[in-house]
Amino acid sequence: MGAICSRRAGIGRRLTANARAQRDPTRSTLLRKQYVSEIRKRYTRVGTAVRDLVVNQDALGLAGGRRAGLFAESPLGGDGDTLTAFDTWLMGIMAAEFDGDWQERYVRAAYMRGLALANGYAVAAGVPAFDSPDYLLTLPPYNSRYLLHLSQQRANLKQNTENARNKMVVALGAILLMPQIGSMEANRWLQNELKKYGRIRGEALARTGVVSVLNDAILDRLEAVGFKNVTPAVEFTTVGDERVCPTCAALDGRVYSIKEARGVIPVHISCRCSWLPFIK
Ligand SMILES: [Zn+2]
Ligand SMILES: [Zn+2]
Repeated sequence: MGAICSRRAGIGRRLTANARAQRDPTRSTLLRKQYVSEIRKRYTRVGTAVRDLVVNQDALGLAGGRRAGLFAESPLGGDGDTLTAFDTWLMGIMAAEFDGDWQERYVRAAYMRGLALANGYAVAAGVPAFDSPDYLLTLPPYNSRYLLHLSQQRANLKQNTENARNKMVVALGAILLMPQIGSMEANRWLQNELKKYGRIRGEALARTGVVSVLNDAILDRLEAVGFKNVTPAVEFTTVGDERVCPTCAALDGRVYSIKEARGVIPVHISCRCSWLPFIK
């Protein structure tokens, strides 16, 4: 199905046919990099704590062929079962890294970037839209739309960290059933789960989240200043060969009502397409 869709979408078409396509129509490269980098740093610190617990402190009692599970002097505590103790410990580490208001600045910046882009498009089309994004953010519908996005982005990341924790606990369950696995290998296994289910997906959430919030802000603003329809600015591929991303090429040239446009972009993880007002 993917291949057929891609063909119909004009895979490999040269971009000269599409003057609106850009490397990054959302113009949010730096913001996405900063958000992704903060998520990576937080996951890296979780990874360091896991390594310290499992290898340096040998809290699971896996070093040197010891298979007795938790020792009384373990940092995880001597009573209860190892899996529950590890789960509780990891939950605390994840909460310390990921709870709090730190996502706010990125979500806010993404929403304001969308408002600023929409202002620019409107003014270029002769529609007065001079209120600053900072000011707009204090007014309805922008204030409540922004808060909705913030709680959505927080919920997405919460789900991401919980999923990573669950996968690590499941992995530890398997590790504890294999007598040959020592602390180094156990750590490698846990780090793999953390990377695969936590960091990589968390970074994708950040990239996609910026594009999603930014585009919704564009739609909010264009709608408020009286536009009825929008058309996509389609991204180039990331491979740098001047072709439209084959997945997003399907959007090219289409016109959407603002209502229809909601939720269409991002089209895929790390999509960088954006909305422009459609002017007849
Ligand atoms: Zn794409
Ligand atoms: Zn796209």
